Amino acid sequence: MYRRLALSTLLAASAVLGRPSLGYRTTPQVYEACINPNQIALTFDDGPYIHLRSISDQFTAAGAKATFFFNGNNYDCIYAADRIADIRYAYAAGHMIGSHTWSHADLTELSTAQIQDGMFRMEEALSRILGVSPAFMRPPFGSYNDNVQSIAFGRGQSLALWDTDTEDADGATVAFSESVYNQVATSKAKNALILEHETVNTTDSKLVQYALSLFRERYKLVTLAECVGVNPYQAIGVPQEQSASWTCSGTPKPGKACGTGSKPITCETGTPVFVSASTSTPTLTPTHRANSP
Ligand SMILES: [Zn+2]
Repeated sequence: MYRRLALSTLLAASAVLGRPSLGYRTTPQVYEACINPNQIALTFDDGPYIHLRSISDQFTAAGAKATFFFNGNNYDCIYAADRIADIRYAYAAGHMIGSHTWSHADLTELSTAQIQDGMFRMEEALSRILGVSPAFMRPPFGSYNDNVQSIAFGRGQSLALWDTDTEDADGATVAFSESVYNQVATSKAKNALILEHETVNTTDSKLVQYALSLFRERYKLVTLAECVGVNPYQAIGVPQEQSASWTCSGTPKPGKACGTGSKPITCETGTPVFVSASTSTPTLTPTHRANSP
């Protein structure tokens, strides 16, 4: 049905809202490891929080790239002024941003509408703040099932897991987390996809420097998207104008979901508004774009 729409309708629609094609698509997959050799992706979950800018700077100073999987309403509200500024700062520095869902609920315990809502609200925040549509979603706790997977795939997103866990958010000591890094280095692993958390003080103050120093010689430190060889975003448009609707009030609280409790929050199951970079030259196919000025 969609494919039969008139060209003019498609042009008009993709120019304003909708999801414009980048002309580069990958079939969504579940990634549990990097693919490219000699690359390590260090990934940081549960932010945006107070350590985002510092971690971003440490990677930038080392000529490395980090990957952040954000929540909308977890340690802080993603719409807090400092969080918005820090997210834009890390993104502008070339670090990758992915979805960790709105409220960090265990998706395997939610209904289909609740899962959609958790993904929608996070996508909406990234569309508003950065003007991007994420191509990767990391399920909270790494917890997913067939339903979660098919919903994510339906939203064009791959699931991003990991193969190495520093356990920094599970109360592990710094020494333990460092031993996890050492194991990767001494075993001469082909590559590694490593889990950390932006929200842990010592991850920012100790682990990041340790990992950067340890791995820099032998490995290229890249984003998760780069180490699996796909685009980090389904589409890149422009950030939106901030309004009163940019709020965490009236949204699911950390660990909670829509549609429950005495005053249930309405579940959002659609696709968020996305503003394209250009309203005059929407891209239909890579061929058209390649020939455009
Ligand atoms: Zn998490």
